[in-house]
Amino acid sequence: MPKVPFIDHDLCTGCELCVETVPDVFQMEGDVATVIDPEGATEEEITEAIDNCPVEAIVWQE
Ligand code: SF4
Repeated sequence: MPKVPFIDHDLCTGCELCVETVPDVFQMEGDVATVIDPEGATEEEITEAIDNCPVEAIVWQE
């Protein structure tokens, strides 16, 4: 199974940075970001969003 991004909603502050980086993968759901399509961008693009999350709320899940 390919690895997929996972967002810890308890950590997410709703800054929307990941949504702006890869909107086909992450979208806002209320006050937090959520994964709408784990295959909506390349691994590199998703990794960029993971690295840029200010609270490290996004991780890869195998
Ligand atoms: S970048 Fe991190 S804190 Fe900001 S909305 Fe995305 S998951 Fe939440």
